Amino acid sequence: MDHFPYRDRDLYCEGIPAFELAERFGTPLYVYSTAALVGRLEELHTAFAELNPLVCYSVKANSNLGLLKLMAGHGSGFDVVSGGELHRVLRAGGDPGRTVFAGVGKTDDEIRDALRLGVMLFNVESEAELEAIDAVAKAEGVKAPIALRVNPDVDPKTHRYISTGKKESKFGMDIDRALRAAESVRGREGLAMTGLHMHIGSQITSTEPYARAAAKAAELIDRLRGMGHDLRWCNMGGGFGIDYRGGESKPIASFAEVMVPRLKPTGCRLAMEPGRSIAGNAGILLSRVIFTKQSGDKRFVIQDAAMNDLIRPALYEGFHRIWPARVPEGVPSWPDDFEAAIPGTEPRDVVGPVCESGDFLARDRHLPPLHRGDLLATFSAGAYGMVMASNYNTRPRAAEVLVDGENARLVRRRETIDDLIGPELVGLEG
Ligand SMILES: *Cc1c(COP(=O)(O)O)cnc(C)c1O
Repeated sequence: MDHFPYRDRDLYCEGIPAFELAERFGTPLYVYSTAALVGRLEELHTAFAELNPLVCYSVKANSNLGLLKLMAGHGSGFDVVSGGELHRVLRAGGDPGRTVFAGVGKTDDEIRDALRLGVMLFNVESEAELEAIDAVAKAEGVKAPIALRVNPDVDPKTHRYISTGKKESKFGMDIDRALRAAESVRGREGLAMTGLHMHIGSQITSTEPYARAAAKAAELIDRLRGMGHDLRWCNMGGGFGIDYRGGESKPIASFAEVMVPRLKPTGCRLAMEPGRSIAGNAGILLSRVIFTKQSGDKRFVIQDAAMNDLIRPALYEGFHRIWPARVPEGVPSWPDDFEAAIPGTEPRDVVGPVCESGDFLARDRHLPPLHRGDLLATFSAGAYGMVMASNYNTRPRAAEVLVDGENARLVRRRETIDDLIGPELVGLEG
């Protein structure tokens, strides 16, 4: 959390105290660090330099236009999974020619738009999709650049909801199927197979699945070239894990270490689609304690960020470090182990105001004494946080702020109730 340090027991984002941001912009508030975002992007560029990489930042991890603009400005391409995300890339000044388009259910309209905009690659997930892209491309009088999404059948040993590279996944095709599909591509004049795509899952903390996937990719590239396909891109997807607890992830360089030697002989350029590993630890969620409460033996901290703001704990048991933005005396200002019984703390459930028992950010978490109005920080919230936020319980979504040094810029204003009910007013007419 280099860019979210504690100084004199006060949490900062880069050069600005968290309490100042909360006062200025209100809570719940997502806060992102420019230096963290750009730093991770550069780390990827450096680690994979030998493969002349194109980082296609995975828009679904955090699609805020301010972040996308920042990424584009630092040379990032993009990975999109819908026409809507592609539109965001354009609005942020991103280059469609450096954008890859994935997703198991692309519609003809989305395919046509993407073709007209000139996306770099369609990551194709099924035979039916090949047919659809071929038909649309022929009607447009162009050749669609495609990469087959292949499941290398490696087990990334991550949460089952975010594992995608196994045989029984809804994504991509197994290797035999992909080879048959590649045969059929040769006869289709609307398609040009210029790449290969794999994405084996998310929050992968071991390098071994990548070593195996890269080896399979290299072998497959040979075979596809043997069929006459002119492969120039090897797209290894995203999925690099980050520290949520502290110390569980590997540095980007160690993933590069196992992938580069296996992919280098192919001569392909490397495309990659990191999302979480860029945005995850570049963001925190600030919230304020509304009430504290005790029921039986259980103690609750009820604060103003809820499952509708950050659903990862409820959806896939995601763990987030949570700590006061101003740490009282007598407790460490940054504990080594957030799951331990830290001296001066008591176990509490950190919950929101939403009417669901599943509305929690943490359970049985050791926290120092907290009071109404205290500010809490939920860490590692930059990826799969705001993008999954909803308006459940008619809760306006949080504001988002992008910090750069001592400068904080609102990149999404807090929603109003009118924003929420506006689309329904049509039903009140007449
Ligand atoms: C979700 C996704 C990614 C990004 O995954 P991260 O774990 O956030 O890096 C990349 N590619 C595809 C196809 C995805 O679905």
